[in-house]
Amino acid sequence: MKSPLEILQKYFGYDNFRLEQANAIENVISKKDTFVLMPTGGGKSLCYQIPALVLEGTAIVISPLIALMKDQVDALRVNGILASYINSSMSFFEQNETLNQLKNGKLKLLYVAPEKLSSENGAFLEMLREINISMFAVDEAHCVSHWGHDFRPDYLFLNGLKKQFPKIPVIALTASADEITRKDIIKQLNLQNPLVLISSFDRANIKYFVQSKQSVLQNIIQYLNEHPDDSGIIYCLSRKGTEELSKKLKENGINSAFYHAGISSLERAEVQENFLKDKTRVMVATIAFGMGIDKSNVRFVMHADLPKNLESYYQETGRAGRDGLPSEAILFYSSADVMKLKKFAMIEGNQEQSELMLQKLKQMSDFAEMQKCRRQYLMEYFGEKHDGNCNACDFCLSEFENWEATTDAQKLLSAVFRLKERYGKNLIIDFLRGSRSVKITDYMQTLPTYGIGNNHDKSYWQNLVTQLLINGFLSESNEDFSVLKLNEESKLVLFKNKKVIFRKVKEKAKAVNVDVVETHYSTSTIDKNPDLFLDLKSLRREIAERENVPPYVIFSD
Ligand code: ADP
Ligand code: MG
Ligand code: ZN
Repeated sequence: MKSPLEILQKYFGYDNFRLEQANAIENVISKKDTFVLMPTGGGKSLCYQIPALVLEGTAIVISPLIALMKDQVDALRVNGILASYINSSMSFFEQNETLNQLKNGKLKLLYVAPEKLSSENGAFLEMLREINISMFAVDEAHCVSHWGHDFRPDYLFLNGLKKQFPKIPVIALTASADEITRKDIIKQLNLQNPLVLISSFDRANIKYFVQSKQSVLQNIIQYLNEHPDDSGIIYCLSRKGTEELSKKLKENGINSAFYHAGISSLERAEVQENFLKDKTRVMVATIAFGMGIDKSNVRFVMHADLPKNLESYYQETGRAGRDGLPSEAILFYSSADVMKLKKFAMIEGNQEQSELMLQKLKQMSDFAEMQKCRRQYLMEYFGEKHDGNCNACDFCLSEFENWEATTDAQKLLSAVFRLKERYGKNLIIDFLRGSRSVKITDYMQTLPTYGIGNNHDKSYWQNLVTQLLINGFLSESNEDFSVLKLNEESKLVLFKNKKVIFRKVKEKAKAVNVDVVETHYSTSTIDKNPDLFLDLKSLRREIAERENVPPYVIFSD
C-alpha cells in the first residue's frame, strides 16, 4: 500500500502537502469524520481524493454543480484514477453504465449531485447499501447551511446520511464559513466528533485594493490596457450589468465574454471553456460563475459592484492566483451600492435572515471604508490574528496626509441641524453648497447655513459624511431612506470644538480612505469662520431650547 505522500507524487505530481491536507487525509483514512476549512484554491479536493485511493471501496463525492463534475472527473482520469459521475443531465444509458461500474467495484470515486441522495432516489440509496463505500465527501459544504451565503435546498438531503450510513466517515469541505456557519454545517451533517481543520485564510500572493466606483469603466479599461497579458474575472451584481460591461469592453478592443445563470447551459459550458483555455481574456460574470472553477492563472478579480458579504468577496477574490503568482483583487466601492444591497436585505422574508444580511453587509462596507490594512481586516473577520502592515494592500502601500476637517464637519453638522435632522446626505450637501435645485425650497434658502459649504465639491462632502458616519461623529437612521441625525459626538464637535482630524490617502482616486488619527479640543476654528460662527451661536441656543436644558450646560464658549 502506498503512503498518501507517494500517491500525491505519483498520481498528482506534487512534491509536498499544503496547509492541513496531510492531517485531513490521515484522519479520513482512519475512518473518522473531518471538517476542512481551507481558502479557495487551497487544495481541498486532494483531502478526499487521496484517501479515496488509499481506502478500499468507492468514495461518494457530493458536489453542487453538475457542470463541474465532468471537469473534475476528467482531470482524475487523466491521472489514471478510476472516477466517474452520475447526474440528471446524463442519458439513462450513460447512468446505467456508471451504476454497473459502481456495482462491480470499478470506481475509486463517484461524483454525485446532492439530490441523488434524496429519498425519491430510493433505488440509488439501496444500491449504495450494497456496495463498499469508503467515505462520503461533501464538497462546498456551506451549501447545507442557511447561515452560509449560498444555501442550496438539495443539500438538506444530506442530513440523513450519517443515520443511514453510521459507519462510513464523512469529510465536509468548504472555503467559506464563519463560526456560526461552521457549527451549523457540523450539526446539519451530523458529523460525529469531527476533527476540525482550519487552514490559514491568508492568500499572500493576492494584493487587495479598494477604489472609488467613480468612473469605474475608465478605470477598468485603463487597468486592462496597463496589464495586457493578464486574464481575470470581473464580477457584477446583475445579469444585465455583465452584458453591458462586456459589450463596452469589446467596444474598447478587449477580448471579453459574459456569464450568468440566464444563458443556456450549453452556452455557459462554452463560455467557461473558452476562459479556461485562455481563449477569452476577461470574464464578466455574476456570482453564478466560478464555484470550483480551477483556472490557475487568473491574475485579477475585480468587483464592479459591491458583494453582499465578505464571505462572497473572499471566495470570489480567492479565484485569483491559484498558481501562487502575484495577483490582484480590486473592489470598486460606492455607498450607493450599499444602499441598494440594504434594500435587498430588508425585503428578505424572514426577519432573522434579513438582520443577518444587514450585519454582514455592514461588515462588507466597513472593510471598504475603514482605515486599516485590508488583509488584517479580512483575517480578523475570519477569526485569524494579523498584525497589519501586509505591504500588499492599498492601505499599506499608500502615503497619508492629515486632513483637518473640524470646520467642515461643523458646517455639515449645523446643516443637518438646520434641516431638522429630516434629510439624507444628498439634500444636506446640496443645501450646504447653496444648490438651487428644486428640492431646495425657498424657505431653506433663507436659513443661515445655506451655501456655507460652497468651498468644496460634492464628492468632498460625500466623503466627509462617510467618514463622520464611520467614526461616529454623525448617525444615520433608516426609515424609508437614510436620514442623517446628530449624536453626542456631533454635539461635542459643534459645541466643544472637538477636533476632527482624519488621515487620508494622498492619491486623489482613493478618496474613500480616511481615518481619525487624533481627536482633541480646540478653540480656534470657529473664530476664523465668521459665517459659521454666527450660525453656531444661534444654533447652540436652539438646540439648548429643543433639548430643554439651560444653555450653559451645552455652551462651552
Ligand atoms: P479548492 O477546492 O480548495 O478551491 P482545489 O482542490 O481545486 O482547491 O486545488 C486548487 C489547485 O491547487 C489545483 O490546481 C490543485 O491541483 C493545486 N494543489 C492542490 N494541492 C496541492 C499541493 N499539495 N501542491 C501543489 N498544488 C496543489
Ligand atoms: Mg473545490
Ligand atoms: Zn495591508
